[in-house]
Amino acid sequence: MTYIQGETGDWEVVIGLEVHAQIVSNAKLFSGSATAFGTAPNSQVSFVDAAFPGMLPVINAFCVEQAVRTGLGLKAQINNYSVFDRKNYFYADLPQGYQISQYLQPIVGKGELVLDLPDGSTRTVGITRLHMEQDAGKSLHDQHPSKTYIDLNRSGVALMEIVSEPDLRSAEEAGAYVRKLRSILRYLGTCDGNMEEGSMRCDCNVSVRKPGQPFGTRCEIKNVNSIRFVMAAIEYEARRQVEVLEEGGTIVQETRLWDTTKLVTRSMRSKEEAHDYRYFPDPDLLPLELDPEWVEEIKRTLPELPDEKKARFMTDFKLSAYDANVLVNEKAKADYFETVAKGRDPKLAANWVTGDLFGALNKAGLEIEQSPVKAGDLGGLIDLIADNTISGRIAKDVFAIMFETPGKTPADIVAEKGLKQVTDTGAIEGAIDQILAANADKVEEYRSGKDKLFGFFVGQAMKATQGKANPALVNEILQKKLNG
Ligand code: ADP
Ligand code: MG
Repeated sequence: MTYIQGETGDWEVVIGLEVHAQIVSNAKLFSGSATAFGTAPNSQVSFVDAAFPGMLPVINAFCVEQAVRTGLGLKAQINNYSVFDRKNYFYADLPQGYQISQYLQPIVGKGELVLDLPDGSTRTVGITRLHMEQDAGKSLHDQHPSKTYIDLNRSGVALMEIVSEPDLRSAEEAGAYVRKLRSILRYLGTCDGNMEEGSMRCDCNVSVRKPGQPFGTRCEIKNVNSIRFVMAAIEYEARRQVEVLEEGGTIVQETRLWDTTKLVTRSMRSKEEAHDYRYFPDPDLLPLELDPEWVEEIKRTLPELPDEKKARFMTDFKLSAYDANVLVNEKAKADYFETVAKGRDPKLAANWVTGDLFGALNKAGLEIEQSPVKAGDLGGLIDLIADNTISGRIAKDVFAIMFETPGKTPADIVAEKGLKQVTDTGAIEGAIDQILAANADKVEEYRSGKDKLFGFFVGQAMKATQGKANPALVNEILQKKLNG
């Protein structure tokens, strides 16, 4: 357990997250308008989205399917009967004057999510609910010195709001939660998880308490748009609350925002309660009734999800929880690994993929899909080590060349650069004999007990063969000549 150490002792941080995830769908939740990101302002707005009088919403069945698929992926209760409500509030970017959302009867109830923590351990966190709702438009405050412009492209786009139980206990756990949720959504294909584009946004509810005490009063930090900021905002907010309480103050429940330049949370408004929104069932929409057969059908088509893939990698490939986790968090990485591992030593494959490859991609700022080294070629490189064509040491150099010159196979590079390992015992013996003769004093020292010099002889032998001598053979011959 990670506590915040205050003047008066340890404080426990309690966090619950509300994630807004934009549903991947070509059309909006209740209209046929397009949803593409980055198009000209107000170019994807129908009369429904602009709330013209007399316009009626029509539910998009595909969005419902996506919400159900997500609920199933979170191992959650699917409610075959759910209701759309109007959440009333007045804001310039909300032309209807209300948002169509779900309140008392959401489409998805309790579920769970498994956190993969950095030390390889896991912890299960409760999901309270998932409901569908419309997104609002966007107010643009930076286009004119004294005016605010409104872009309604986002108005009516389908969102899933996914609410967690207050089960998280540190900024790290909150980070792990968002990362895992994003990974599951991407595997399912129900949300692209692009936080930079705003298609996934996170409200962070934070309170602190003395261990063993009841929950404290929470503050909610709105619309945090990266995992790094989620963690930083929670860290800052928890410390702020500890300070307030230790100085004898009280926490007022309020909505705060995360200032991304000053890296502080600031009060935005006092917390509104449900009754402020005057929720009532939307009279334009019938309750949503799902056919259980249809839900079963969706369940049957779920892909293998990160938890199951991780378990399979650990059993079938004997990978550590840590390695398995690094490999499954993106499906493309897992697929790449499986291609490399097929018919090869999985541990060796995992080391090359998570170490050399991910390291190089990271350094070059590339995604796995953009890797200059294709999975088949990395597999080929591992084969060259396995059949003793090259040593593990030389393989690192070959890999670096492969990464720089895409399209060249490892075999081409080994042939071109003459990197084939020397496994000819005679040639290695010859080189070693010369070294021992030239360093007679060191041979003497070694024999009189200076064991460390063995490494020196190995180094000289590798140098004499430009690193191409088979290391096992070098060791064997040196042992024989020095100790035999
Ligand atoms: P609202 O809709 O008013 O924000 P909810 O009951 O839906 O209220 O809770 C919102 C989020 O706040 C949930 O993720 C929940 O886990 C979290 N939460 C509730 N109580 C606390 C608390 N004392 N400290 C931290 N988080 C909390
Ligand atoms: Mg809330």
